[in-house]
Amino acid sequence: MKKLSIKFILTTFTIMIGSALFAFMLSNFYYQQKLKQENDEKFAEMAINLARSLEEERMDWASYLEGIAEMGYQLYVHGEDGRRYFFGDPFRNDDLPQETVDYVLQGEIYHGIRKFPHETFVTGFFANELTNTVGVSFTVANNKYALFLRPNIQLIFREMRILLAVLLSLIIVFSIFSVFLSARFLVQPITKLTDATQEIAKGNFSLRLEIDRQDEIGKLATHFTKMAKQLKKLDRLKNELIANISHDIQTPLANMRGYAELIRKETLSREERKQYAGIITEEVGRLSNLTKQLILLTSLDRPKEFIEKKNFSLSEQMKRVIRNHQWLMEEKGMMVSYVVPDVEIFADESLLQNVWENLLGNAIKYSHENGSIHLLLKEEKKSVFVFIEDQGIGIPPDALPKVFDRFYRVDPSRTRTVEGTGLGLAITKEIVQLHGGKIEIESKEGKGTKVIISLPKL
Ligand code: ADP
Repeated sequence: MKKLSIKFILTTFTIMIGSALFAFMLSNFYYQQKLKQENDEKFAEMAINLARSLEEERMDWASYLEGIAEMGYQLYVHGEDGRRYFFGDPFRNDDLPQETVDYVLQGEIYHGIRKFPHETFVTGFFANELTNTVGVSFTVANNKYALFLRPNIQLIFREMRILLAVLLSLIIVFSIFSVFLSARFLVQPITKLTDATQEIAKGNFSLRLEIDRQDEIGKLATHFTKMAKQLKKLDRLKNELIANISHDIQTPLANMRGYAELIRKETLSREERKQYAGIITEEVGRLSNLTKQLILLTSLDRPKEFIEKKNFSLSEQMKRVIRNHQWLMEEKGMMVSYVVPDVEIFADESLLQNVWENLLGNAIKYSHENGSIHLLLKEEKKSVFVFIEDQGIGIPPDALPKVFDRFYRVDPSRTRTVEGTGLGLAITKEIVQLHGGKIEIESKEGKGTKVIISLPKL
């Protein structure tokens, strides 16, 4: 985490330095392109006026120029006789070619500020050089002089220097402080998230992230908490599933073991032995049914695109399932009526077969002797509807929302003799949803149950 905050601080400082350099270069460009010319003109005009005053007033030009220098200028005077005079702060570089002096002495105006060379990292504005001046000539007492002038930037800035230095230091200190603070603000929730990830890796899903922010990190924290809750739920479901499966495997195994031990007893009659062997066979059947359903359930976790759809006759399939259950219904003395017109559907045939087997199986299992079942297949433009209705024991209202849960069975005491795993409706719902369809159950306790399924035809 430390690395991230260091990266952030370094990036911010790089941006600050980079922006300062860029701003300097831009203002230098502005100076070169515009200000230089304007400054040159302004100071040339001032020098001309100054020269005129010196000539007209007939005063002591040296003390006059002394006064001008104090007002914030650097001046240089080169006499015809070769004598040199400096007023104000000294020039850092006071080389000036003789031709320039001669040129001014001839009455021409020297535009040194305008002609000062263009350099990227040096602003001519601050260049304290004699060549960076404007020059004019003046004549006093028949002596001709060349006068060179430039503003004394240092003098102008001197008064503001302390103020500027304080301001700049404050800006720098404040920026450094803010950058460190914002780095902490930025990195802290990430540290919390990292800790939380480690907690989840350890299997502790009951964590609370105290990150109350509206930005992306806040969103990340919210999603993270959601994910942790989901993981917790999945973990609970997994444990429940394992407990249920273990229980459902354990019971038939214990029965089988018990009866197998009994069979080994020599005192047992032939009849008893046959009966116990029958029970063992039944239990094996139960186990095999349970594993088949479990395998089917896990196979349903595959993505939608992996189901093998094809066109087939839904009515033929339903009639086949009814025929296969005929003997069961006859055993219970039950009646079945159905209306199944010819309907084609594009779906996974073997998965849908499971749906009808589960639903018809339930209708038979949870019906009284001599009860009746009614099946109806209805076709609409884009979907098909299947209704399976029985007049059996029904489902109590409080159990109705739970019947699609894995391993849920309504109070087993009322159906003690009825075989089941509690997986049938869970499987059925998943298959219907995989096909983009819907399943609903209407039921009245003691009166009967109606299952309604809708499936898209394509
Ligand atoms: P099971 O293997 O127990 O039949 P299901 O998932 O198919 O499991 O059904 C869950 C529970 O819903 C059943 O145990 C039963 O109590 C109830 N149930 C399902 N279908 C019917 C029905 N047609 N009539 C009454 N109860 C039903």
